[in-house]
Amino acid sequence: MKTTNDRSSITILPATGGDGDRAAWLNAGNSRCATLPVPPKEVRRLVLLGAPGVGKGTQAALLHQWSGACHLSTGDIFRAAKSLPQSERTPAIQSALGYMARGALVPDQTVLALLYERLRCLRCTGGFLLDGFPRTVAQAEALERLLKAEDLPLTRVIDYELPIEKIVERLAGRRVCSSCKGVFHVTDKQSSPEICSHCGGKLYQREDDRPEAIRVRMEAYHRSTEPLIEYYRKRNLLLTVSAEGTPPEILQRTVDALALLPHSSQ
Ligand code: AMP
Repeated sequence: MKTTNDRSSITILPATGGDGDRAAWLNAGNSRCATLPVPPKEVRRLVLLGAPGVGKGTQAALLHQWSGACHLSTGDIFRAAKSLPQSERTPAIQSALGYMARGALVPDQTVLALLYERLRCLRCTGGFLLDGFPRTVAQAEALERLLKAEDLPLTRVIDYELPIEKIVERLAGRRVCSSCKGVFHVTDKQSSPEICSHCGGKLYQREDDRPEAIRVRMEAYHRSTEPLIEYYRKRNLLLTVSAEGTPPEILQRTVDALALLPHSSQ
């Protein structure tokens, strides 16, 4: 698989696997990633913004393949914790999973505690792609303080835009493979709507992709996350990219937009 930023040779895989080894991010503690990134020529530290369902996770996986930067999704930490037996979940994680199931935001304090446990991932020599964090102004301020203290300037904040009807359609039809974690849509041409065309695993619908939870998530996005667009615009870091079209098209648009801009740091 190529992870080059030479435009002519961008290689992209479907939004499944290919996300690198994220053991340190997903499990924290003493977990070590089996494969460490080869430091790229240009280290990128990106934040991906956008409403739920806009395709940030898919783009993060593709951008990882393009740039080598690690995909750091806070939602993935909670989903990984969900597969732990009840006895191994801390009370904070247990309560966070309750918020998540309803589609509500997990309290800032819990999310920030998880981030502080994973500081070495922010320091990773391959750079990072933050997906789903920050989601509130308080989280953005905490991140800004942290990155300043660590001398790790953000490269850009990419805001993916899509009309609301398309977002709801993407979320409601999204299916995830229980085995390889690949992400599909019910309208994808697959041999079966229930079986993963990559590995044969069973496809399921995330509980927060059900209609009631989608409504709560969109409200939380408008109330708490949308103000971040202005927050990062003021800091000259914002890059707006249309999330219309196929994942490879959106990736190409992102790569082109990043190439056009002079380097900026927080
Ligand atoms: P995501 O996969 O990013 O859509 O996250 C799934 C769910 O995890 C969200 O709906 C929240 O309940 C929770 N979550 C993930 N990241 C955060 C965050 N930065 N702040 C608060 N809640 C979060």
